[in-house]
Amino acid sequence: MLSRDDITRYSRNILLPEVRRAGQERLQASSVLVIGAGGIGSPVLLYLAAAGVGRIRCVDNDSLDLTNLQRQVLYSTTDVGKFKIQSAETRIKELNPGIETDFRRMRFDEKTSAELIDGVDLVIETSDNFETKFLANDSAVRHKVPLIAGGILRFDGQVFCISPGVSACYRCLFHAPPPEGSVPNCAAAGVIGAVAGVIGSIMSGEAVKILLGQTRAFGLLQQYSLLESEWRTIQIPRNPGCTVCA
Ligand SMILES: [Zn+2]
Repeated sequence: MLSRDDITRYSRNILLPEVRRAGQERLQASSVLVIGAGGIGSPVLLYLAAAGVGRIRCVDNDSLDLTNLQRQVLYSTTDVGKFKIQSAETRIKELNPGIETDFRRMRFDEKTSAELIDGVDLVIETSDNFETKFLANDSAVRHKVPLIAGGILRFDGQVFCISPGVSACYRCLFHAPPPEGSVPNCAAAGVIGAVAGVIGSIMSGEAVKILLGQTRAFGLLQQYSLLESEWRTIQIPRNPGCTVCA
């Protein structure tokens, strides 16, 4: 149930015909897992908390270094050297004390994935490595939980929304992780900080739509190039030979 303060806090959501009070209560009753609290994870966590998503679980195992501050807008200079997950939880609770947080300093891996996905309505994958992206996909498909996967590099970013068994999954699109070292990451190739903001913001917006049952983005690969000032969206067909979702 929404309190009087909730109705004020979320009034700009509630004004929307697509949300109204029932939609806000649906967000309040929702539970999301965010994998990673870095460049993309920062805006994702901020906007989900601000929107009133009721339970946010987050996993990250890294500590903050000075190079992170160029794009990881959850953190301050005084957080350098601390574990991100602790600073992130403090910041998110300051932003919205009315939501439940379950932030854990651990890796999302073969051993922890089932426990972390258990009970959530949506998984949002924001890591910077292919191993985690494919594992998140395979686990989400196995548990039949929708997934939003995002990635950034240099001036480019992409978002892909997956409804297991209904739309194409990450493996329908990319088949298998690229050979180790064949695709550079942001640490090697660089990235404009604002691209993390754009992609994370789109992902949190898509998350709100999925939680409200309003999305049309499943199976759609959304690609953004800051350098070209261009968006492209491509409908990805399911692969009948997919080793995970077929
Ligand atoms: Zn698939």
